[in-house]
Amino acid sequence: MPAQLLDGRQIAKRMRERLAEARQTLGDRPVRLVSLEVGQNPAADVYVRNQQRAAAEVGIAMEVENLPVASTEAQLVEAISALNRRADVSGIIVQRPLPHGIDPRQVQMAIDPHKDVEGMHPANMGSILYREPLLPPCTAAAAQQLIVATGMDLRGAETVVVGHSEIVGKPIAVLLLHHLSTVTVCHIGTRNLADHTRRADIVVVAVGKPGLVHGDMLKPGACVIDVGINQGPDGKIVGDVDFASANEVAGFLTPVPGGVGPVTVAMLLRNTLRAAGASV
Ligand code: NAD
Repeated sequence: MPAQLLDGRQIAKRMRERLAEARQTLGDRPVRLVSLEVGQNPAADVYVRNQQRAAAEVGIAMEVENLPVASTEAQLVEAISALNRRADVSGIIVQRPLPHGIDPRQVQMAIDPHKDVEGMHPANMGSILYREPLLPPCTAAAAQQLIVATGMDLRGAETVVVGHSEIVGKPIAVLLLHHLSTVTVCHIGTRNLADHTRRADIVVVAVGKPGLVHGDMLKPGACVIDVGINQGPDGKIVGDVDFASANEVAGFLTPVPGGVGPVTVAMLLRNTLRAAGASV
């Protein structure tokens, strides 16, 4: 029997409806999200347009500021400081990739943690160890939401996170620990990945390598969350999980595209509303 697809587009649509209601509770208070981009990257532009469309649906004004491609780190930090000071700006995001010579960590640290709607400032990242923070990292929160949407009992569930990056793998592992899952984190140094994934009730893959996880590496009925976004040679977007073989074995599976991605955008909007003072 094929896996039950976890339709991220549907889940994100329902979230946006709920967020639009939460937006109403703020009345005339401005809710503005500003996206900063250095230079112009066609891939990022598609992403920004999707974010703008979703923000408009919820009632969030999204402003896009493009800095010249030759901007220095100091100039980008100054642009961020100006947004930190603006009372009408609730959230700030900086589009990646950044040009060489600009350190993404320095840039993230320049954002006021209360306006860090991507949840990647060290203050927000650090507080995730205590409990889920007000502004959690969006992709990790999206992966968590998709798992919760299955209705599985997470307490004691064997969970394997493949990938240990700061922005995705590590925060996902920590968020799932809060549910009392038994979490194993696999990475480039892991000796035999399949030994771990085969015993997992939940597998989250966030690596950036198409086809890394195949159906024969999964336990029958497992919940598989594919965070990867890779462009194939034919230009198509694929995840890190081989969809056809995983679909034969998994109990739940996220498609790529249409899985984690749309829910991540919805999380960004949720964080923006929270930053503006909404209880959502
Ligand atoms: P990264 O390059 O920072 O980290 C990759 C991780 O994969 C590392 O922890 C590394 O140890 C691990 N890894 C590499 N090869 C491995 C192997 N053979 N076996 C096991 N682990 C291995 O990447 P990232 O920024 O965490 O992004 C991961 C993927 O998620 C990318 O495809 C990226 O495009 C995607 N992504 C998606 C979203 C979304 O919203 N859907 C958001 C951010 C990133």
